[in-house]
Amino acid sequence: MTLRGRLTAAFLTVVLGPVLLGAFFVGTTLATVDQRRSAERLGLAVGAVRTSVDALCQQLRAAADAVALRGADPVGRAGAATQVVSRGLAAAVLVTDVTGETAYTTPGAPDRPWLDCAGPRRFDGPIRALTAEVELRDRAGAMLGRVAAAQLVDPGFVARLAAVTGVEITLLTGDAGIAQTTEAAGVRDEVLAAAAPVGDDRVTGTGAGRYVRRAGPVPGQPLPLLLSVPSDQSPGLHAALVAAALLAGLLAVLAAGRLARVTTRPLAELAHAVDRVARGDLTARVPVRSHDEIGRLAGTFNRMTRETQSYVAALTSSRDQMRGHLAVLGDTLASTHDLDRILRVILHSAIAATGARSGAVLLVEEDDILVGRCLAGSDGDDEAPEPAALRVPVGSGVVGAVAATGEPRRGRVEPGDAPPGEPGRTYVAVPFAAPGAAADVPGRAAVTGEAAPGTLGVLVLYDRLGADGFDDDDLVTLRTFAGHAAVAVENVRVHEEAQRLSLTDPLTGLWNYRYLRESIRREVERASRFGRMLSVLALDLDLFKKVNDTYGHAVGDAVLVEFARRVRGEIREVDLAFRQGGEEFVLLLPETDARGAAIVAERLGAAVRDSPIVTESRSGGPGSGPVRIPVTVSVGIAVYPDHASTAQQVLDAADAALYAAKAAGRDTYRVAPVPVRPTAEEITVRAGAAPPEDGMPRAGAGGGTRHVADGGASSGPHPPRQSRGR
Ligand code: GH3
Ligand code: MG
Ligand code: MG
Repeated sequence: MTLRGRLTAAFLTVVLGPVLLGAFFVGTTLATVDQRRSAERLGLAVGAVRTSVDALCQQLRAAADAVALRGADPVGRAGAATQVVSRGLAAAVLVTDVTGETAYTTPGAPDRPWLDCAGPRRFDGPIRALTAEVELRDRAGAMLGRVAAAQLVDPGFVARLAAVTGVEITLLTGDAGIAQTTEAAGVRDEVLAAAAPVGDDRVTGTGAGRYVRRAGPVPGQPLPLLLSVPSDQSPGLHAALVAAALLAGLLAVLAAGRLARVTTRPLAELAHAVDRVARGDLTARVPVRSHDEIGRLAGTFNRMTRETQSYVAALTSSRDQMRGHLAVLGDTLASTHDLDRILRVILHSAIAATGARSGAVLLVEEDDILVGRCLAGSDGDDEAPEPAALRVPVGSGVVGAVAATGEPRRGRVEPGDAPPGEPGRTYVAVPFAAPGAAADVPGRAAVTGEAAPGTLGVLVLYDRLGADGFDDDDLVTLRTFAGHAAVAVENVRVHEEAQRLSLTDPLTGLWNYRYLRESIRREVERASRFGRMLSVLALDLDLFKKVNDTYGHAVGDAVLVEFARRVRGEIREVDLAFRQGGEEFVLLLPETDARGAAIVAERLGAAVRDSPIVTESRSGGPGSGPVRIPVTVSVGIAVYPDHASTAQQVLDAADAALYAAKAAGRDTYRVAPVPVRPTAEEITVRAGAAPPEDGMPRAGAGGGTRHVADGGASSGPHPPRQSRGR
């Protein structure tokens, strides 16, 4: 059963019940009152009937007495009887003798038998007259017979009786047949049917709105009469009551239906809307039709769905935003080794994911200082142009403590407590460690000035927008991003290491040939730009083949390593040392002229020459164990721009000078000759043999090629294409 049906039924019960009950009470009360009043009237009528009949009987008895007074005189009796009748005291007088034979009767007497006033006796047949009898005696008192005076019982009599009593009267015969009635034929049968048995004084009602009561025969009133009165109630009363109840019922049904509809309609609309929401349609709204509870419910429902809708929209947009960030993050991680850019993207993604106002990524530097690598605000603009200005010692402040313990933290910093550089308010800070390092390092309880092992840096966010603070979910989110940051930092470090390895010589740790080419170009360019000089030293160990031959290749390598170490010890920080290949090295000395370079060469030669290289001989050569190997080096010096105008030319010039040094007997240095400004004629003859301008001897094996090289070097700014191609 629907709610509407139940409401209708309840309303009907509430309304119809009392209406029907009231109608019933009104009906029964009216009927009771009516019956009582009718019974009263009938009671009075019975009394009146009795009085009238009694008076009639006394009158008849008096009339009979008047006749009986004549005694034995028949003529006098006849005269008296005639007088009585003529005066209307009786309708007829009858004299009987002792045997009961009729002695005299007035003319026109009704047929006998007559009903005697004296008492109730069974009286069959039609009642024609009522009579009173007295004894007839003579003067002596002897019994002569009886005198009876009679009154006619006819319709007129019944009508008079009815007129006296004011009710309708029906005269019954002995077997309840109708003798006379004042009632209309239509109601007679009903009255008869409703009549109580003889001796019962009850008032009964007929179906047609009459009340009936029996009166007699009783002593003093021998007539069997039925008295009836019409009900006071209008006959349509019950019908009107029923009609009113029906009308009330109909109205109640209509009202109940309407009320139930009005009541349940908003509920039905609400149920429909809830159904739509359940199916995912958040645009569902219900009309607010009233200010009652249902109206409030509808309003609340609308507000709820509106809020949910905007919440879902916000979630969707933040999800889309997040997707965008993740896509950028993925692209960035996959496509670049630019650490700053990666960290910036990670930081922005973390800020977008948590709704922070700002944030920073700090990396642990060697001296246990956290240095900002990236700062950002939520609007995507980097707040501080110089992140490196943010420097926090490990162990100090929130970020420092996180780096020291390796444990993430979240909470609130009072502005007063925050170390300089860190804004106040809420924060969440997560450390990130090299992958694999963090897992086996339990968090350290104590905050020290030292970063937890493996910790690479800290990712910190400040001031979550629209919330009290960061929660554990934010912490989890931030851990993910911190993981990305760790991988990125590690990747970049690995990449940098690989880069470094690709530019260094694995044996000696000096820069390799590849880097030499890059560096000399750069240094020449820089020297040219700033008008400085650049010295290039070409180094070659003397007779190194013999070392290999004598002690083996491994010892040779060890000598090379030691030689490299000594070279590093003799140059400045800004100088660059390269292993060009084999036992050949190159030094670049920025801002150094030929004299300075010569001093370095001198010093280097001494450093190598003065103490033989001691190394372990493992190859079972002549005597295993420590060996002392005397080593010398020859050096060729060329200076940009004095000796050449390009990187290649200056290298070639240094090479040429080296050969000059070799040729000069080794363990010495030579400076490249200053090229002569070529003239047109000189150019034509240059291919022959230009005399060395430094005046140094140019002899020895391979001199031809070296002359060519010298020629190239001395040709100065002229055509670089004449130099040895590489
Ligand atoms: P010079 O004074 O004329 O330079 O005589 P040298 O014996 O040094 O002659 P050269 O420079 O032509 O010979 C280079 C030798 O250096 C050849 C090789 O045995 C040795 N050598 C080159 N590279 C390496 C290396 O990586 N390790 C070792 N142990 N020896 C090397
Ligand atoms: Mg060599
Ligand atoms: Mg050599």
